[in-house]
Amino acid sequence: MNELELLADLHRDTERQGPGGQDETRLALELSGLRDRQDLSIADLGCGTGAATLVLAEALDARIVAVDFLAPFLNTLKVRAIKAGVAERITPRHATMEALDFPAASLDAIWSEGAIYNIGFSRGVREWRRFLKPGGILAVSELTWLTERRPAELEAYWRAQYPEVDTASAKLAVLEQHGYTPLSYFVLPRRCWLDGYYRPLQQRFPAFLKSHGNSPAARAIVEEQQQEIELYERYGEHFGYGFYVARKAPEG
Ligand code: SAM
Repeated sequence: MNELELLADLHRDTERQGPGGQDETRLALELSGLRDRQDLSIADLGCGTGAATLVLAEALDARIVAVDFLAPFLNTLKVRAIKAGVAERITPRHATMEALDFPAASLDAIWSEGAIYNIGFSRGVREWRRFLKPGGILAVSELTWLTERRPAELEAYWRAQYPEVDTASAKLAVLEQHGYTPLSYFVLPRRCWLDGYYRPLQQRFPAFLKSHGNSPAARAIVEEQQQEIELYERYGEHFGYGFYVARKAPEG
């Protein structure tokens, strides 16, 4: 297995593949104004095993295209959607978020929790805008500095992992510059990282290592994840995930 396949294997049976929580998805939904509307077309980009997709499908009158480039995640999502009784509202699509083929101005909302970083925040908000109907909603969670001054070790780590990491004011400015009206921003609470994501992931480590014969590649992945977890435990007051809800603004 290559690194991506190993990562998919580590994460494919977990409820979510990044920090987040059902209550926070519902809060973003509330802030978006989508709840009051009918017959919506939505795309969940980088949906993983469907943590947010399922909440959206349960809460809204919507058809949701759930996009991910890892097929094992979509397979888990299909099973979960059937169990939750919402499979007919969700269309899993095995595709990359870098080359989407939705018709222009066809979507009421684009949702992307913990995934827009894969394409880069600026590029994502710029490229995805054209798929939104006038007044359509963009709801994304994104790695965000929570303090103006950070420990050097932390700064170096995240700059290397994700050069676009920045403060909320900078992210909001990017949204404004690319033709959106920010509607709200909130920070995911600590439990979304620890209880929602890291602890379930850590519980999976022993079985994952065993099933890969404790191979160097599998151990390297666990060590990398463990390093990220320890960094959060140590410096979690300096960074987090900001949840940004914005509306497509009319052309000037
Ligand atoms: N939204 C899910 C959640 O909150 O649990 C998953 C978040 S996970 C951190 C990022 C997701 O983006 C993964 O499911 C990964 O497979 C997907 N992904 C990464 N790069 C992608 C790409 N270029 N196109 C589509 N999906 C991608």
